[in-house]
Amino acid sequence: MTNRKPLIAGNWKMNNTVSEAVVLAQEISNGFEKDWAELVDVCVCPPSVDLKAVRGVFLFDHTKVAVGAQNVYFEPKGAFTGEISVDMLVEIGCEYCIIGHSERRELFGETNEGVNLKAKALIAGHVKPIVCVGESLAVRDEGTYLDFVRAQVRAAFAGIGAAEAADAVVAYEPIWAIGTGRTATPEQAEEVCAAIRATLAELFGEEVAEGMRVLYGGSMNEGNAALLLAMPDIDGGLIGGASLKAVSFLDIVKAAL
Ligand code: PEP
Repeated sequence: MTNRKPLIAGNWKMNNTVSEAVVLAQEISNGFEKDWAELVDVCVCPPSVDLKAVRGVFLFDHTKVAVGAQNVYFEPKGAFTGEISVDMLVEIGCEYCIIGHSERRELFGETNEGVNLKAKALIAGHVKPIVCVGESLAVRDEGTYLDFVRAQVRAAFAGIGAAEAADAVVAYEPIWAIGTGRTATPEQAEEVCAAIRATLAELFGEEVAEGMRVLYGGSMNEGNAALLLAMPDIDGGLIGGASLKAVSFLDIVKAAL
């Protein structure tokens, strides 16, 4: 890592009812040491129905843990049954929103074009998108993964200017490493994160790209986080399974200090 402040983000996926989410948030708050917030940004992304309660836990404590959503719709309001707008996230106090997660791309038909519309809507609402990109095992085995991921990044940021993009986050999440226990090696993750930064530099210039955070996600845990986070272009982690246990999540936060 360079002088970019690391970001550790927990993706709770479809886990935890409101009461369970509050317990987990409270455990994170209790174990979070005072000076950590100066050194690392931390965010948890619970299911949308839990957001308000989880935000309530972190609002007045010492942690500065932010909350993020796992999805959003790009339209401001209207007849879009089941969807949630940027304004709704803003009023709850969401600072981040994950978009383009591979589970949403695979199971819910999210496209590069949709991710781009969501990125634009979030940036307009001053919510930081965490744009997920990453290749399948088939694409990795074909050897075209760098082109694949670079194309996803270009598509996600199409029509977005450098000033608007500066606060956005990109998460490299190889699909073959998500929830599989098969983590990318630090070298594999660094290769792609560096290619992502090079793509951001083409789009927005060196200076903006150097300031943007690129995360790694895919079976990151307390045992492998330190080596991954030590790589120069990996500025933090997006953590699924290991974010559901406070001790594991806090150990990963510690590894980022
Ligand atoms: C994720 O889904 O964003 C993720 C990284 O999951 P896991 O850590 O469980 O692989």
